[in-house]
Amino acid sequence: MNGMIKVVGFGPGNFEHITERARQAITECNVIIGYNTYVDLIRDLLTTQEVVRTGMTEEVSRAQAAVKLAVQGKQVAVISSGDAGVYGMAGLIFEVLIEMGWKPSDSPTVEIIPGISAINSCASLLGAPIMHDACTISLSDHLTPWEIIKKRVVAAAMADFVIALYNPRSGRRTRQIVETQQILLQHRSPQTPVGLVKSAYRKQEYVVRTTLEHMLNHDIGMLTTVIIGNSTTFYHGDLMITPRGYQRKYTLDEDVQWLRPGERLHVENEPWSLRATNSSERVQMELANALVEEPGRTAMSTVELAHEALLRVQTKDHLIARSSSPSAVKTAPMKKALFQVAVAPGIANKRFTTEQLVCLADLAKDQGEVHYTTDHQMELRLQTDDSQSVVDRLLAAGFYVFPVGEVVKVKACDFCDGEKEEPIPYARELANRLGGQKVPKELHIGVNGCAMACYGAVLEDIGLIYRKGKFDLFLGGKTTGRTASAAKMMAEGIPADQIIDLMELIISQYQNQALPNERFHKFFARVGAVAGFCYEKTSTPVIADIVCGA
Ligand code: SAH
Repeated sequence: MNGMIKVVGFGPGNFEHITERARQAITECNVIIGYNTYVDLIRDLLTTQEVVRTGMTEEVSRAQAAVKLAVQGKQVAVISSGDAGVYGMAGLIFEVLIEMGWKPSDSPTVEIIPGISAINSCASLLGAPIMHDACTISLSDHLTPWEIIKKRVVAAAMADFVIALYNPRSGRRTRQIVETQQILLQHRSPQTPVGLVKSAYRKQEYVVRTTLEHMLNHDIGMLTTVIIGNSTTFYHGDLMITPRGYQRKYTLDEDVQWLRPGERLHVENEPWSLRATNSSERVQMELANALVEEPGRTAMSTVELAHEALLRVQTKDHLIARSSSPSAVKTAPMKKALFQVAVAPGIANKRFTTEQLVCLADLAKDQGEVHYTTDHQMELRLQTDDSQSVVDRLLAAGFYVFPVGEVVKVKACDFCDGEKEEPIPYARELANRLGGQKVPKELHIGVNGCAMACYGAVLEDIGLIYRKGKFDLFLGGKTTGRTASAAKMMAEGIPADQIIDLMELIISQYQNQALPNERFHKFFARVGAVAGFCYEKTSTPVIADIVCGA
């Protein structure tokens, strides 16, 4: 009889969660090889099989024994808890065979029988924590260098994976989980939900729902799997839940969805997708190239070009038809659409020139409108089928031109009429790099040039106050409503040359992690930390009985 090895994953450890095929395989074989505790767990399936029990650390000798018996013609079942291919025996069996010169067509034959791995069984006891991209990391450094494990923890933390930590701690390995928590805290909120599941579906099953900051206050051992939520994971009572997507396309409390089934996959309804990013990047590049080549055009900075390209993309006025002359550009005709654009004479400069006012008036004429906004900008609204020439005229009049809508807006003071000139380049750079970027909900960055902060930077979503070559940073102002409140000071004295990069990091985390339409202060409160700055709850007001001193 030809020998055979069946590598069997028997699931978390109770009879009901062993698959039918795994049960069959165990009964079909005449030798069972496994770690003592595992053999006890499947005792009910044993009849006449010979049992080779081994201790915990003898994985290699178990694999060698299995191969030896199979080569002798035996039907051998090698049993692993969970799935045999996840930190189990499957790979090891192949490694031992390959070492002997074995090929898949050779005897003994090998069958790998899948089982329910701890990440799945433990998740099911917690709720639905691994609904989104997840990874497993074993913290055991017996066979893997700690430096590599650490790198994986950092990468997974940065990439916002839900993480299942296997082999988190043992009698001798106690520091690994502590270092892991420290790494995770650098990238995730201390309030991130963490589930600890010990002995899932076994007699001593024990489930703890905790948070990243408190996880080490609980018992974590050899039989625990630690599941760390991503930045969107939340608790609903005892349930740990990770939403299905970062960007919800569904309105969960409506019977009728705002997108019909056929519309859900349209590129404009998935602006976060690679397809959308690619196409809008391509269109912007084409536009930028086309604009550079346009004859008679005055030189524009890359940022101005990008702004203009963005504007045209956003007004859907981006179809370019190149004529036979490579340098000529035409905008494809389209029906007159409402075109909206915001302008300002400068970032620090608040003075409109006569030419600029005339330009606005002329563009608006009797059909259009000019609004002044609370954002230190004028908004021009008009019907046009040629938004490009509108933008051209605004730029020629010396305006800064920005898209309107859910974008980043930089609101700076006038730096005492330009007298406090040192911080002005930073405010301009912020406007150039971040102004007009799309965000889940309109966001204001206030920049003030001295500690007087008379333009109220601390009352914005994000406030920056310049003092002696450094910036103080304020985050999470609630700018509207009855419960409006100022942003909280997060840091004092950030070197000015670091401020732009830091702001880019904050904005990119908001862009990537916020729910649709989630204002910055809500997002900050929900995720608990942005760019390493932690959210602090403000006290809730007392409800007074007496109204107006009555
Ligand atoms: N092959 C197994 C993993 C073996 S590594 C599987 O796929 O699940 C051993 C680790 O698995 C343990 O340290 C623990 O982190 C996890 N584990 C295995 N069974 C478990 C159970 N029933 N409950 C909780 N964690 C378990």
